[in-house]
Amino acid sequence: MPFSGQMQYFPLKHLVGAGLVVLLMILIVFWPRSDTENTKQHTFVIDLPEMSDADVTPPEPTLNWEGSKVRSGDSLSVLFSRENLSAIDVIDIAAAVPRDVITLQVGQEVRWVRTAENRIKQLELEISPLAKHIISREDDGSIKHQLTERVADYIPRFATATIENSLFYDGAQAGIPSQVLYQIAAIFGWDIDFALDIRQGDSFSLVYEEIQLDGNKIGYGDILIAQFNNRGRELSAVRFVDKDDNTSYYTPSGTSMRKAFLRNPIDFFRISSRFNPNRKHPILNTIRAHKGTDYAAPTGTPVKAAGDGKVVYASRQGGYGNVVMIQHGSRYQTKYAHLSKFGKGVRVGRYVKQGQVIGYVGTTGRSTGPHLHYEFLVDGVHRDSLRVSLPKADSINKSDKAAFLVESDKLQRWLADFAATNSNGDFQ
Ligand SMILES: [Zn+2]
Repeated sequence: MPFSGQMQYFPLKHLVGAGLVVLLMILIVFWPRSDTENTKQHTFVIDLPEMSDADVTPPEPTLNWEGSKVRSGDSLSVLFSRENLSAIDVIDIAAAVPRDVITLQVGQEVRWVRTAENRIKQLELEISPLAKHIISREDDGSIKHQLTERVADYIPRFATATIENSLFYDGAQAGIPSQVLYQIAAIFGWDIDFALDIRQGDSFSLVYEEIQLDGNKIGYGDILIAQFNNRGRELSAVRFVDKDDNTSYYTPSGTSMRKAFLRNPIDFFRISSRFNPNRKHPILNTIRAHKGTDYAAPTGTPVKAAGDGKVVYASRQGGYGNVVMIQHGSRYQTKYAHLSKFGKGVRVGRYVKQGQVIGYVGTTGRSTGPHLHYEFLVDGVHRDSLRVSLPKADSINKSDKAAFLVESDKLQRWLADFAATNSNGDFQ
């Protein structure tokens, strides 16, 4: 260390003192003395500035991290071999940690630090940006494993867009991430047919969560609230997480956004023929699958929409006679045949509510007598309407209702405040 560097540690009075001592030593050394006289030892203490512990602790040696992404067909030993890491370490690690920890996924980030002897000092297997397995070799040679998890920040973001082309095109133009747009389509999928129902001038606004870690965006969370204006209909959906951690979307008053089905679309009936893929047809006298349920009932008995949905067919259709078909969300379709007449206002493109009368029992088409032939399709496949598991559409639990309404009010105010400023982005 250069002298000038050392100098600054000595307060002036010490420098003066030190100078006197040096002078004294010179005098002692050069002063004539008798051989019998003992030389005295002169010591002095220098007051060094106090140092904190942090200053005295040697800095952690910087770890030299290396890393790789897991490729198709990789196991830990394949990856270790490719990276010139020790095969013995693979055996040690496999013996010390649960198998699922070292079962690698394609694309997974793996990082490690090796010792001068090319052995693993530390190995990190990323599960997500928020969680990773840390495997390290202790000083005693043993392998230690821990799972570390971090907590991300969920930042609310406001967004709004008017549709000129499509939900996805105009949503993307407004800077809304596609994952969020998919959520919109799913939430409103029971009420809006995004392929056919969207009109120029439809608009939507929403608050969604951006997930951040250390201030960096790492993904997107849930939509908290969304409003969709579709051809003059205003639809709103509010997220609610119940006590069991189930996330669902409800209307602001607490009705599920998912829609339920009536098991039977008619009130007074006798089932005259069940769903049967191998039925002998009563008129054609051949094996013809019966792809629906027949309800014998007097002509004129009201037939009700099994669920909320959109009328996609309301007309004559060959052997089915007068038919109404309803699309419910993106996955479900119901079909009502042999009707004597249609319900009021039941026309293609119109929305109907569950329980709404969409027609009346008759015997139009290829039919042996007054009955309703009812079909239920899931993803385009005919299912037994009496047995198929119907989607649940529970409204908010009584016990959650108060909490839900508080949350719903808050979110609606948020959305209104942001719609007023009409700017996409920061919510803070
Ligand atoms: Zn039938």
